[in-house]
Order: sequence, then C-alpha cells, then structure tokens
Amino acid sequence: MPAILLSIGDELTLGQTVDTNAAWLSAKLSGLGIACSEHRTVSDDLDRIALNIQQCAALAEVLIITGGLGPTDDDLTRPALAKAMGVELIEDPASVEHIAAYFHGRGRDMPLRNRVQATHPMTSTMIENTCGTAPGIRATLGQCEIFVTPGVPREMFAMYQRDIEPAIKAMASTTRTILTAKLNSFGSGESDIAEKLGPLMARDRNPVVGTTVSNGYVSVRIRSEHDDIRKAHAELDRTLALVKEKVGPLAFGQDETTLQEAVIALLVEQGKTIATAESCTGGMIAGMLTDVAGSSAAVLGGWVTYANAMKVEQLGVPLALIEQHGAVSREVVEAMAQGALERSGADFALSTSGIAGPGGGTADKPVGTVWIGMAWREGETTHIGARLARLAGDRENIRDRSAKCALQLLRLKLMGEDLDQLKWASKP
Ligand code: AMP
Ligand code: MG
Repeated sequence: MPAILLSIGDELTLGQTVDTNAAWLSAKLSGLGIACSEHRTVSDDLDRIALNIQQCAALAEVLIITGGLGPTDDDLTRPALAKAMGVELIEDPASVEHIAAYFHGRGRDMPLRNRVQATHPMTSTMIENTCGTAPGIRATLGQCEIFVTPGVPREMFAMYQRDIEPAIKAMASTTRTILTAKLNSFGSGESDIAEKLGPLMARDRNPVVGTTVSNGYVSVRIRSEHDDIRKAHAELDRTLALVKEKVGPLAFGQDETTLQEAVIALLVEQGKTIATAESCTGGMIAGMLTDVAGSSAAVLGGWVTYANAMKVEQLGVPLALIEQHGAVSREVVEAMAQGALERSGADFALSTSGIAGPGGGTADKPVGTVWIGMAWREGETTHIGARLARLAGDRENIRDRSAKCALQLLRLKLMGEDLDQLKWASKP
C-alpha cells in the first residue's frame, strides 16, 4: 500500500520550520509496514497545493496532508482539497459547535474567522480535533484515501493516533498482514552488515530485509507481508533468526531496545555493579547508563577526571604513569579503571581517555585516538584490560562512539563473548 506525505506551509519551504511531521508520520507508517514513497513540501499556494494533491492521489493509496488548516487567509488546504476533488466547500454544523465550545471553554467567543475551520469539501468527512480548533478531514479521491491534519505537531499526533492509524490499519488488514521487526547493532559498519546478510537483502525477498544507520547504530529492519497472518508471523520469526545469526553478538536488542538498556539488563540479571572513570567522554557513559529506568540496581556512580591532577587524586593513577606514557595511554586507562573499581567496590569499571579534537592530536596519537579501559573482579582477583579505538569524525562523534564502544565492550564481557568482535576498539 504506497503512501505519500504532503506537508503544507511557507514556513517549511522557506526553511524556518523543520518538517518534523513527515519524519514522525513516516516512522509511524513504517511501523505499520507501510513504506512512504515520497515526502512533498508545498508553500501556501492554493493552485500548487491542489495540483500536488491530484498528483499524489494518482500515485498513492494513502495520502496524509499536514498543515494549512488554520483560520487565516494563508491557510489554504481546505479550498485546495475541494479544488482537487472538483467539489464545493460546505460547513459542518457539528464542527461549528465544537469550535465554539473550544473557545467557550476558554472563556471566549469564537472569532468569526475560525468558522472557516468548520468547512470541508463535499463528500469528505471531519476528523475531530481533541486538542485544538481545526478539525481534520478524511476524503477519497480516485483510489486514494486522503487524511488532512493541522500542522501543529501535537494536534497532528493526537489525530493520527486516535483516528487515522486505526483507519489505515483497517484498510490494510482487509487485504494483507504486514509485520515488522528491527534488530539493532553497534560496532560494525553498514556495509559489513550488508555483506554478512548477503542474499537476505535481495529486494524481491519476502520478508524484505534492509539496513539503516543512525548515530553509529546499524539496524536491520525486517518486513513480512502475507495474506495469512500466521504465515506473516512465522516468516518474520524465521528471517529474524537468520538475521540474528548473521549479525552475531554485536546485535544488542530488538525494536526500541537501546545499547544501555541491554547493558543494564545484563548487569541486573547477573547481580553485578558498575562504576565509571571518564576523561574524554566527560560523563557520557554514566549518563547513558543512568538514562535507563531501574539502573540504580547496577550503577554505583562514577568520576569525570578530565585533568591529570584529578586522575591522580580521585582515582589514584600514579603521576609517573601519566608523565611517562601520557594521559591518553593504555597504562593510564587501566589505572583509571582499577582505581574506580577499588574505590567504588563495583564488580566492573569502565574508563576512557582520548583525543576528541579538534586540536590536541599528534603524529602517533592523532585526533580520534581513544583508550578504553575495563577492570573487573573474578572472585578475589581483579583483572584489567584496555582497548584502542581509532575513531573518525568530529568531536561529538568521537566522544559518542567512544562511550558506545565502552558499553559494547562491557556487554560482550558480560555475555562471555570475545571482545575482539568489536573491531572498532581493538587490542593494541
Ligand atoms: P498550520 O496548521 O499550517 O497553521 O501550522 C501551524 C504550525 O504548526 C506552524 O506554524 C508550524 O509551527 C507547525 N508546523 C506546520 N507544519 C509542520 C511540519 N510539517 N512539521 C513541524 N511543524 C509544523
Ligand atoms: Mg500554515
């Protein structure tokens, strides 16, 4: 079922407002297994909006339009839709009452110009707005079902969730069942994952398998589409198992599971605790871990030791070690992790020290050189190890990937997996 999103508004085409509606709606639709083939953005121009509605309706079975339902003269989506459909605008008495009641609820009379918001093209129906004045519109043009919502994101979300998604689901379920799953990984590039998946990624396969990258995470998306719901489930499960096997232990979770959630779940499951000692990541690891609700069962705390003196005073890193090897070194991150482990009493400690740039790089320690240390207890003995990451990108990227590498290393450790699988942070 092809879908198109049409965003209306001068503020969008002039670059004053970012079109977050299209991104949000696309993600929602893809959650239903419906792929958007196009996002269009059109200025507040009646003829252009009407033309685009006609074109989109000829190309899609579902068209969602946002914006241009306000009460002012530049809000033209209603007349443009009527023009595209070749019908007149009519007034909906129930909507007039609803809008008037909205204003009365706020101790005001309905401004005359808001009355236009109660109009809609003949043969179309209204969609109630539960948190604003402008109702939405549902219309049919040729083979296409059209849904129109206000541009205000909050009102659009509410209308989509309450009325539009159920309507689209009902359209889809009369024919096909579409199920989706997502497997998230961190620690190898999209092309490596694609290589591993091989023929699973053939475009004509059902379930279809694709990859997306976001902030260093590579997610494998699976979409299973069948007439028979049981078959859709069975095929989704079968492909998901194949994908998991191919991606391997760098996959940390499904659907909306985050890397930090996966780490916390393992720590809690094993009754283990963690402390952090961060230099270049400045508390990002601790921040990510404590993002997770319930992390207090596993996170003891941490240090941000940016200056050498803090590394010495707070973590007991020998000054001589820093003088001899530099703060960005295997020896120093190992001493930081050991200090954090001993001083916190945690079962695991993670540490980082690196050159996030843009300045500070040298020939043998260029920007992007990041050492990650880990210390852990096994019975009475303490173990210490370190990995070297050579990361690309700007300061933000380097710090972000460093924190994620540290979390992925800990996760692999907790699972008893070989840490060498994380090639981005390799053995020195
Ligand atoms: P409208 O329904 O066209 O009157 O839009 C009302 C307000 O919603 C605009 O002033 C924008 O701030 C916001 N808005 C409209 N369209 C979008 C969009 N596609 N994404 C994010 N915000 C939007
Ligand atoms: Mg507008």
